[in-house]
Amino acid sequence: MIRHAAPVENHHYVCYECCVARLLKDLVVRQGETATCSLCGATKVRCAGTGTDDFLLAIKALIRYHFGEWQYHSKLGDGSLEGLFSIDPNPLLRINPAQSDIDREDVILSFMSDVNDRQMQVEVITAYGRDIYGYYPHTPVSAGESHILQSARRKLADTNYFLVEDEYEAIIRPIVVYMSGTVSAGSKWHRARMGAKRRAADFHEIGAPPQYFFEPHKDKAIGAPPVGVATAGRVNRPGVSYLYLASNSETAAAEIRPHPGELVSVGMFEVNKDLRVVDLRTHDLTKLWRSDSQLEMLELIIAMEKIFATAAPPSNRSAYTLTQFLAEIFRRLGFDGVLFRSTVGDGDNLVAFNPAHADWVAGSSRAIGVARVRYDWSDVAMFDESETYDMDYEKQSKLLEQ
Ligand SMILES: [Zn+2]
Repeated sequence: MIRHAAPVENHHYVCYECCVARLLKDLVVRQGETATCSLCGATKVRCAGTGTDDFLLAIKALIRYHFGEWQYHSKLGDGSLEGLFSIDPNPLLRINPAQSDIDREDVILSFMSDVNDRQMQVEVITAYGRDIYGYYPHTPVSAGESHILQSARRKLADTNYFLVEDEYEAIIRPIVVYMSGTVSAGSKWHRARMGAKRRAADFHEIGAPPQYFFEPHKDKAIGAPPVGVATAGRVNRPGVSYLYLASNSETAAAEIRPHPGELVSVGMFEVNKDLRVVDLRTHDLTKLWRSDSQLEMLELIIAMEKIFATAAPPSNRSAYTLTQFLAEIFRRLGFDGVLFRSTVGDGDNLVAFNPAHADWVAGSSRAIGVARVRYDWSDVAMFDESETYDMDYEKQSKLLEQ
């Protein structure tokens, strides 16, 4: 291992309670020693030393995970690296209101003074001097703004997918180990289909509304659509039949976006073999933090989760080109399906590439009437022509094209 400089003298300690980030708590547990915490003053507690290589590396990874470069690179904004530690509540190290600013700063400087000289496998600053104008500043890894996906989206806009498939398969192959999961045989999932099979009515008394009876879709009728007639979906290309399932019936129903007054059939499916799936819900800084390339992998996984979880409006099905492309790569890499959070329900979505891998559970179908659909929204800030922004995406992309 190459050491760029000797570690600083290990003269400060932080305890488990004062570490907010799990990555730092893990260091206390794994490599800690009994000491007095320099932040809260607790004595004889297990603490991480702030002078170790791993402590500094974890701090750098956490800065990249939580913050964008414009928040701490003084050439891009007003902030500084040290200033990140006075943000309250702090995502890295808890702020003790009883501690003076000077004493806290002393602790922070015990590792931050070498942030740009040691553990350079993670860089928090992209470029210095005039060079900065030729680079995208780092965005927070947790924001999942992966340039790898952005370039894939651009390429797919004017290139046949099979011409770029190999290139992206090679990029994704090394990270599949971090998002590989299993859906166990026997687990039960839910599926919804618009409408019902039969309806009947009883007229009890003249003038009163009739009572209706419905027979929900069941078995094959609520299963995956036949190959060939399947329309394009979030994960499947047109003509390709995948089985879309959800972890609860409410999510399954919400995913097909029914309107109020419409009727939906829901039924249960049982997975009939252990499925090897891409699990986009499990991304974790504690597994990918030891280098810039690992952070880039984490950012890519977060970016993929974001695009899978975001439902495109029915008017813009072309938005699914990228998710269909990625799903095909997952399939080529030997996966049976993909698992991701739903944004319209509180459950998860499972898409099985082979509809034969789950069977309808006899008697599980029922019909539900949609009484009300609820939307949550908030105002977004307006672009102002007279303002200058840390990142103006249109300007920046023109600059890079030159
Ligand atoms: Zn403490």
